[in-house]
Amino acid sequence: MKNNQSSALVLHSGGQDSTTCLFWALKNFDSVRTLCITYGQRHGREVEVARQIAGSACVPFQELDATVIGLLADNSLTNFKMEVDREKPLDSYPNTFVLGRNLFFLTFATVIAYSHGIRDIVTGVSQADYSGYPDCRDTFIRSANVTLNLAMDEQFIIHTPLMWLSKAEVWALADELGVFELVRYNTLTCYNGIMADGCGECPACKLRNDGLKEFLATMNKRI
Ligand code: ZN
Repeated sequence: MKNNQSSALVLHSGGQDSTTCLFWALKNFDSVRTLCITYGQRHGREVEVARQIAGSACVPFQELDATVIGLLADNSLTNFKMEVDREKPLDSYPNTFVLGRNLFFLTFATVIAYSHGIRDIVTGVSQADYSGYPDCRDTFIRSANVTLNLAMDEQFIIHTPLMWLSKAEVWALADELGVFELVRYNTLTCYNGIMADGCGECPACKLRNDGLKEFLATMNKRI
């Protein structure tokens, strides 16, 4: 994929997935910059984590305050009075679903990328191993890509390196990229704002830690 002067903008939250995507982008593009969008979420600390990771990777970091996204409709990530759903309800989405989030994120990202002469956007969404949020699905991303290209009369490419990976495979990718330790100990995924392996109880921790266990078990079998 690497060609002359290729550049990408990575949507980076400071969590496991987007940090793995950042290092995937550093491998595949000549220059990379990150965009960290805040929307009034619980774990506001993630911005500082994202800033530190961008600093250690020596890439430009940009923060965008989009608090309005979290205020438009109720969800447990921005309304701290709501208890975070631990399980996905049978007939709906967990209350951690922030309506429109990825559509807003991709719109902001493409506009900002455009202003830097960048046409490649990288996002860590995945439909293989999550709560089934509709705006994490491949169909949505492809559709948004077409819409944004039409909206700006440009040829953006939205890359989703994690789209079909399980959490264990995301850990394996971090390992392959040589950043397993960095992703394990310097990222923040936990809804309760605890670094690394997190609180161990919230849905984000459970997903991350189950994947980690599975990945480590595979590694042990190989040794
Ligand atoms: Zn947690």
